Amino acid sequence: MDTMITERKDSLRLEKKRCRQVKEIVAEEKEKSKQAGRPKTMGRKKTAPQKEADGSKAKEPAAARKTASRTKTSAKTKKQIDKPDNGTAKNEKAPLGAAQKPKGRPAGSKSAKAAPQKAAATTMKMNSENVSDAKRSPARRAVRRTPVRIMPLGGLNEIGKNMTLYECGQDMFIVDCGLMFPDPDMLGVDLVIPDFTFVEQNASKIRGIVLTHGHEDHIGGLPYLLKKINCPVYGTKLTLGLVEGKLKEHGLLGKVSLNVVKPRQTVKMGCMAVEFIHVNHSIPDAVGLAIHTPAGVIVQTGDFKVDYSPIESDVIDLGRFAELGNRGVLCLLADSTNAERPGSSMSESKVGYSFDNLFKMAGSRRIIIATFASNVHRVQQIVDNAVRYGRKIAVSGRSMVNVVGKAMELGYLNVPDGVLIDIDTIGRYPSDQIIIITTGSQGEPMAALSRMASGDHRMVSVTADDFIIISANPIPGNEKHVNRVVNDLMRFGADVVYEAMYDVHVSGHACQDELRLMLTLTKPQFFMPVHGEYKHLKKHAGVAKTVGIPESNIYIGEIGQVIELDGVSMKMVGTVPAGKILVDGYGVGDVGSIVLKDRKHLAEDGLIVVVATIDRELGTLAAGPDIVSRGFVYVRESEELMAEARQVVKEAFRSCEERGIGDWNNLKMNVKDELSGFIYRKTKRSPMILPIIMEI
Ligand SMILES: [Zn+2]
Ligand SMILES: [Zn+2]
Repeated sequence: MDTMITERKDSLRLEKKRCRQVKEIVAEEKEKSKQAGRPKTMGRKKTAPQKEADGSKAKEPAAARKTASRTKTSAKTKKQIDKPDNGTAKNEKAPLGAAQKPKGRPAGSKSAKAAPQKAAATTMKMNSENVSDAKRSPARRAVRRTPVRIMPLGGLNEIGKNMTLYECGQDMFIVDCGLMFPDPDMLGVDLVIPDFTFVEQNASKIRGIVLTHGHEDHIGGLPYLLKKINCPVYGTKLTLGLVEGKLKEHGLLGKVSLNVVKPRQTVKMGCMAVEFIHVNHSIPDAVGLAIHTPAGVIVQTGDFKVDYSPIESDVIDLGRFAELGNRGVLCLLADSTNAERPGSSMSESKVGYSFDNLFKMAGSRRIIIATFASNVHRVQQIVDNAVRYGRKIAVSGRSMVNVVGKAMELGYLNVPDGVLIDIDTIGRYPSDQIIIITTGSQGEPMAALSRMASGDHRMVSVTADDFIIISANPIPGNEKHVNRVVNDLMRFGADVVYEAMYDVHVSGHACQDELRLMLTLTKPQFFMPVHGEYKHLKKHAGVAKTVGIPESNIYIGEIGQVIELDGVSMKMVGTVPAGKILVDGYGVGDVGSIVLKDRKHLAEDGLIVVVATIDRELGTLAAGPDIVSRGFVYVRESEELMAEARQVVKEAFRSCEERGIGDWNNLKMNVKDELSGFIYRKTKRSPMILPIIMEI
């Protein structure tokens, strides 16, 4: 009886709820038709930023003013390489940050007025809401809400240094902080990190840094960021384990709060909350993110693939992505690395079968396998096969030793006792009982495999008794290095298996079918392809169109852009400083375009230094000139040329003396001009000329 009454009450409540929903839908339709006239959405993405600013002017003059001041500097911010040498650049940017610090919410203030209670209620619900709180969330409605802003600071139109900043109200948080390896023309530069100017300007609003996984392009820049701002870092166990090693190197360990999270856990970031979702990738413990904001849920996949037979972990949490999709995802930001590839990526376990076959092929020879240190699953498969074939494992290369150690310590890599041996002891075992796992799969000149190839590895000399597997594909740009290493290894008589032969490598990034699956499950209202060069982003946008996302709701962004979502539209509302900061040794950002230009000049044409002493009283040459050169000609074989050059410089001094030119700058200029003219006529080369003039 009681239950019947309750049931009836329930059905009554349901009925009421339905009525309410219908009313809401009607209201929503009205709102929609009102909105229909507004063209200021992403469909107009080709419009110049200035025009966007004009567009918002109609709504909110103050906001437009700020936006305009921001867009003006946008050209500058794209060429951040100039920054370090350009002393004024920083000052020019300073007001930008000030403009960003909202005294009142610029674009949001109006919408907040429209439905302040509702927005607040959503915020509160969201904060208290955890993953299990599905039913109470209202279905997505096209109602303008407190806007959330996405600011990509790296990883768009480039491969590497991924970093995204989210802002809502007075709160901000950062997703990932990666590095990028320098282009060949960045001579002497060790690595490239994102520009942190905007983050520093808003340090007080940053609630935390969230990491998706432990690859360098996602965590490599973190120590440099933590030196500028200190805030809690959240990531899964392995990710933070790898971060710890970095912090130690930079003397930051113990000074930063590292917080281990698990998939399906949610962390509050002020008025936003970040939920971690398990994904498959070429490193264990990778997660995607659902970012719950007052404007709606934003899903950022991080690097991911769909692996139905992963090694020692679960299949990507497709169920959770689908749940989020059913409840309404405002925007999806997804990995575009493999957007050019049709079909699906292969499962990591496929590589295990290939190893099995190859180990048979190796017979009694020693096996050397090069792979990415961070690919713990790959290493696990090598270990498993080694055990099966009764071989011992030695590890070579600094990063391989580090990662294997960390992964074993944290329980991500299972190596039975007695299997792992020190590289120094490999001489004690016959060839058919040894496997060497090494770094250098990209042909990096300093890595262990390259040293083996050039014959100067401390412990390993390659012979015809070696069977070598390169279990990785060369990253674009590294092909030449890899080829050189393969050639050299083969010269020693070794068998080398590489690239597409025998499926010795699978990608860690989703191909088109997997991208379609993610889009279909999350059903986002808006879509932003991320993580890739422009061609990848463009392809990914194309993939999104095939699953029915309207082109007007897809936006290909650029780093430094501020993209605002308010539940109704997605628009670019301005720019913030973003770009490349070069790291060379201890120097961060002190190498800029002028230094690089000099390095390039020196590298290509060499240097001539002219040293002369002049008598201040008489204005005559007292000693010299001496000419020293580096990287220009081999002096001993060019004595005649150098003697003539000395004569030219002498003439230049004499002519200056006759014309009464006594000031240093003029003197130097004259010497430089005369000498470079002479050198060019004689050699068709333009070395850097550096006159050093002393007075007595
Ligand atoms: Zn990755
Ligand atoms: Zn990545």
